[in-house]
Amino acid sequence: MRGRALRLMAAVLLWTGAAGAQITVATLHPLLADLVRQVGGDRVRVVELFKPGGDVHHFEPSPQDLVQMKGAAFIFASGKHLENYLDNLRDAAGGVPVVEAGAVVPSMKILRGQEIFFDEDVDVSSGIDPHWWHSPENMQRAARLAGDEMTRADPAGAAAYAAGVAATCKSIALLKAWAHVQLAVIPKQDRKLVTSHAAFGYFCREFGFQAMPLLGLSREDEATARHVATTVKAIRDNHIRAVFPEDQANPKILQEIVRETGVRLGEPLVADGTSPGAHTFETMLRHNVEAIVKALKP
Ligand SMILES: [Zn+2]
Repeated sequence: MRGRALRLMAAVLLWTGAAGAQITVATLHPLLADLVRQVGGDRVRVVELFKPGGDVHHFEPSPQDLVQMKGAAFIFASGKHLENYLDNLRDAAGGVPVVEAGAVVPSMKILRGQEIFFDEDVDVSSGIDPHWWHSPENMQRAARLAGDEMTRADPAGAAAYAAGVAATCKSIALLKAWAHVQLAVIPKQDRKLVTSHAAFGYFCREFGFQAMPLLGLSREDEATARHVATTVKAIRDNHIRAVFPEDQANPKILQEIVRETGVRLGEPLVADGTSPGAHTFETMLRHNVEAIVKALKP
């Protein structure tokens, strides 16, 4: 009797839990999971194949992950070659389509000369920068794409998804306006964003900064004496006021450079939108803007 009551209760709970959700969407980036939740609200169940805290540049879903997303309407990926496993995933996903947000976003290339203290052994020139999520417009494009795909999978929810897209795009526009106002206190000549990996190109274009990635520096435990010397000289020549480590990366070498040059060490920036403490567009942008203003304002 008791067992039956429990089973009944469990069934009711399951039923109520699933009552609102009409579709399942699997995501390969926490920023995309947040967008899908914002646009889809209760109508969508999100399965995060990639969870906050991981390294988005080195990831591949496990077979267990694929079981979890069974029946998903689509898999939402960042694209722009960030996920180099997408072809394999398409084969393994049992017909679930992979939708790449990067496909509706204009590409930015990492240009030779954009970087200043660059390890000569590494050549990323002419590569496409996959970090499109630092641009508010790009996030709006991704939100619209998510809305289109959810509407295709669940036409009865068309009005709800349209409202979700409109509200999401509006909140992104407000955040963009807020960021421009905050960053306006930084003089033009100080708008140089020295970061460890080349992840802020889209941010810099939007907000009028020069991107200066150290590329990989903070992810290594030790740099060569020559590399450190070149970097120190470049920081002096370019009158750099602050350098920014990254969340989830080792700032040891940056600290060494800071000691030698007296340049300010900013708070770690969120580059990939995967930080456990900042993995939505809003928390990422607010964190980065506040850290940049704090370090570079006169
Ligand atoms: Zn990155």
